Amino acid sequence: MPFSEERLRSTYFDLLKIPSVTGSEEDIARYVAGQLEALDLGVTWVHPDDGTKWPSLMARMEGTDRNAPSLLLIGHLDTVAVTQGWRTDPFVPVVEGDRVYALGACDMKGGLAAILETVRVLTEEGTALRGTLHLAFASDEEGLSRGSHEMLRRGLKADMAIMAECRFRQAAIGFRGRYGFLVHVDGISAHASRYPHVGENALISASRLAIAIEELETADDPYMGKGTWCIRHIQGGIRDTLSVPDRCELFVDRYVVPGETAASCAGQIGKAAEKLGIGNRVRVELAPRNTPYMEGFRIPGEHPLVSTLKEAYERNVGRPLELGYDPSVCDSNYLVVLGNIPTVTFGPSGEGLHGPNEYGSLREISQATEIYLDTVRNLLA
Ligand SMILES: [Zn+2]
Repeated sequence: MPFSEERLRSTYFDLLKIPSVTGSEEDIARYVAGQLEALDLGVTWVHPDDGTKWPSLMARMEGTDRNAPSLLLIGHLDTVAVTQGWRTDPFVPVVEGDRVYALGACDMKGGLAAILETVRVLTEEGTALRGTLHLAFASDEEGLSRGSHEMLRRGLKADMAIMAECRFRQAAIGFRGRYGFLVHVDGISAHASRYPHVGENALISASRLAIAIEELETADDPYMGKGTWCIRHIQGGIRDTLSVPDRCELFVDRYVVPGETAASCAGQIGKAAEKLGIGNRVRVELAPRNTPYMEGFRIPGEHPLVSTLKEAYERNVGRPLELGYDPSVCDSNYLVVLGNIPTVTFGPSGEGLHGPNEYGSLREISQATEIYLDTVRNLLA
């Protein structure tokens, strides 16, 4: 049974009209839960804080054969906050040809609509799938990924997964990893009028170190490319008294590729400090956060999920699906690294994610639905 284009669109528009900026996912979660319950699927609510914030949802269509492979379709419920520069109301979808302008239109309410329509069609068909189809809708992906982390902690499991993030022309079969470091730099306080004869300015030491850090070598991976450094924040200084600043703190963002670890990166920073002669005045630590840092991963291009998805894509779109690697991190990192679930990141796209005038593509949402349906039938039937 083909899917209903009209129903798919109205779900998409409904989702776009419900604001779901990270930390305010309750309303959209209620909507999605309602859609699943209307199909007689049981929904499990997951709250990472044991309160009502950051709700995520898990559901499944039980397969008939316990030994058959299972598949997870997953997406995130939240969006980033509204940025400046929107020409239209970000919570009122505006259609222009194939484009739909709204916050989350690309990242990633099209993916959510495609998952929901996929489940509806499969339910209506009444085809008994051998393998179980798991569904998950995560909160806080744009924040600390509390939703996916908590669902994995509570037993979210499958043999493979499609993360319906907005990558349509090129599916990602690997992501880099990422760490954040706090670098504490000490100086020696003294009266500012005596400086530079006495005192050691922590801001100057930290600035030299910041430049040295961005020049540090990184590993080069044949698939993922290079690791990168980015100084994201500098804090310190004294404005109100005539004193040489004795404290400065850097926040250092580090994307990593295989072979690079939190310890090796921290070690690099330490060595750079020693080279500048301030080794004993610098302390490096992983910046504390409420969920684990995301490690990088790569799944084999020959994985049955990848080949099945590629076949479905070519059948529906008429050209081969490219495979690639994403330079950032997303919930797929947790699925693969913490959940041991091979994951392909593929879903309807558009342009302008995390910026003003973001739009999604209606055609890609329809095509993604067909591709998900084909993939589910081929992997689980
Ligand atoms: Zn996203």
